[in-house]
Amino acid sequence: MRGLFRKMKFLEHWKRALAIVWSSAPGFTAVWAIFLLVQGVLPVAFVYLTKIVIDSIVAANAGGGKWDDVGEAVFYLVVMGGTLLVAEVVKHLGVWIRAAQAESIADSISDMVHRQAVRLDIVNYETPEYHDLMERARGESSGKPLELLESLGGSIRDGITVLAFAAILFSYAWWLPAVVILGAVPSLIVAYRLDRDYHRWWKASSNERRWASYYDAMLVHSDAAAEIRVFDLGRHFRNLYQGVRQKIRAEKLRHLRRQGTSRIAAGAFALVTAGGAVAWMAYRVLYGFASLGDLGVFYQIFSRGQSLVGSLLGSAGTVANNSLYLENLFDFLDLEPKIVGPEKPAPIFDRVSRSIEFRNVEFSYPGSTRPALSDFDLELPANKVTALVGVNGAGKSTAVKLLLRFYDPDRGSVLIDGTDIRNFDPVELRRRASVLFQFPMQYHARAGESIALGAADIETDTERVLESSANAGAHEFISRLPEGYETLLGKWFVDGAELSGGEWQRLALARAFYRRAPIVLLDEPTSFMDSWSEADWFERLRSMTERKTGLLITHRFSIAKRADVIHVIDRGRIVESGSHSELVRSGGAYAASWDEQMRLDGERINYGT
Ligand code: ADP
Repeated sequence: MRGLFRKMKFLEHWKRALAIVWSSAPGFTAVWAIFLLVQGVLPVAFVYLTKIVIDSIVAANAGGGKWDDVGEAVFYLVVMGGTLLVAEVVKHLGVWIRAAQAESIADSISDMVHRQAVRLDIVNYETPEYHDLMERARGESSGKPLELLESLGGSIRDGITVLAFAAILFSYAWWLPAVVILGAVPSLIVAYRLDRDYHRWWKASSNERRWASYYDAMLVHSDAAAEIRVFDLGRHFRNLYQGVRQKIRAEKLRHLRRQGTSRIAAGAFALVTAGGAVAWMAYRVLYGFASLGDLGVFYQIFSRGQSLVGSLLGSAGTVANNSLYLENLFDFLDLEPKIVGPEKPAPIFDRVSRSIEFRNVEFSYPGSTRPALSDFDLELPANKVTALVGVNGAGKSTAVKLLLRFYDPDRGSVLIDGTDIRNFDPVELRRRASVLFQFPMQYHARAGESIALGAADIETDTERVLESSANAGAHEFISRLPEGYETLLGKWFVDGAELSGGEWQRLALARAFYRRAPIVLLDEPTSFMDSWSEADWFERLRSMTERKTGLLITHRFSIAKRADVIHVIDRGRIVESGSHSELVRSGGAYAASWDEQMRLDGERINYGT
């Protein structure tokens, strides 16, 4: 029963793969199908014509070379030439159609994979199983729907030819078709079993292949370039890369070697059976039971028929094994995000009118035993800037991630004006937040475009770009770029301009301004800034959060001090709250850290750093 169920699953995969192929390239697929039929029939026509041509030449020869007989032979020769020409044309056009079809299908599948990757929860990126599955879905699996179509098509085409050959052979002796098929059986077994073994190995080695890509990225990507040089890590990563590749290569070659030797053995067996059959016909011609044309037909059928049956059975094996690969692709496409909105989401707010509230929240990252937040209560009043300060690892960014619903709390809830955020559509919720991350993305786009990405769902508004850029203090350096707002940023592409860390951050701030969302979340917005511009920064942040609900995460007290309310977080819990002066007066952890930071800043100023 289970076996039957698994077989049904194969069918399901095939149906789905062929539906993908058809919807991605219906026109090409239709032409391809017609070519397939033509290619199935042509070899038979050719073989049959061979017999007629040989026999008519022999007849013309026997008749003393009479013009009528010679003319007939020439006519058949021309028809045979025409068939060959059609076969050639179909073959070459077929190559072009296949390439066009393959490109369309590959792009459609990439689009499906991309759409799915963006749709899934962030938590997926934190599990190696997800990365393995993604690697497999993007790797060999993505070419499998087309391969399935081709092997199915190949089976049909070869099937037509083989059936026609079998009919011709049958007319000579009933047992001849059986000899052809028998000769090809070992090829089938070999193809099926070796393909299956190869797939098993391929699946098991996806983790190793990802290690290889990782080492490769370390060596070629700009993010790692500086450290690789400073620590002279080139040789280290090259050795690691070569080590993994050597292992993968050796295993792959072992599989290919096994495939090679088994195929030679299967081919030799086929040859022996074919040789026997042709010898039988030669014997018959010798003793006058058959014509020379018959021997020609026989030779053709056996020389082509054997390899045809082999390839037919081989494609049948590939069709069967294809579903193993397709399973990887479909497993990935079928993953469902867990962070979803309810069927009927609550109406989304335009502004926060009272507050955002974390109520008794407890949260541990998947796979971690220590909670990142526990008994976490925090209120962000509407139209105010709230600062969250605390040492590294205290849980500040985690609070932001929960508010954006990258994760859901294990216990407790996050409420906006009293509504649990799980009641909103997560996409709409995120649309209502402007976030400046600690390490913002450095998009390789034109400066103006990069700012407008803050609200990609609306048409670019140049006025708004300029205003956001000015508010973020980015206008000055963008104007100095060779082509101002039209300058391509980043160094990956021709004519790209590189920015400093602080400039990238200002650009990201402009993007956040551009968004004009009612909730503003700033995670260490000044981490790349020198202390002199902090006052300037806060004024900018203030204007950005005007009539908005702001959360500012920082470890710099001189920034936090200007917020309306300050909360101190320690090991996932709020430990002190109040205004700057209240906290300093209370003499707690905030006051001690404030004194310490002021002392350090004072020293830095004295030493002129
Ligand atoms: P902060 O922003 O205050 O520096 P975080 O909120 O980033 O701190 O981290 C809080 C705790 O959660 C830390 O102990 C950190 O190691 C852990 N943590 C952060 N991100 C992840 C993650 N993606 N997976 C597992 N643990 C994490």
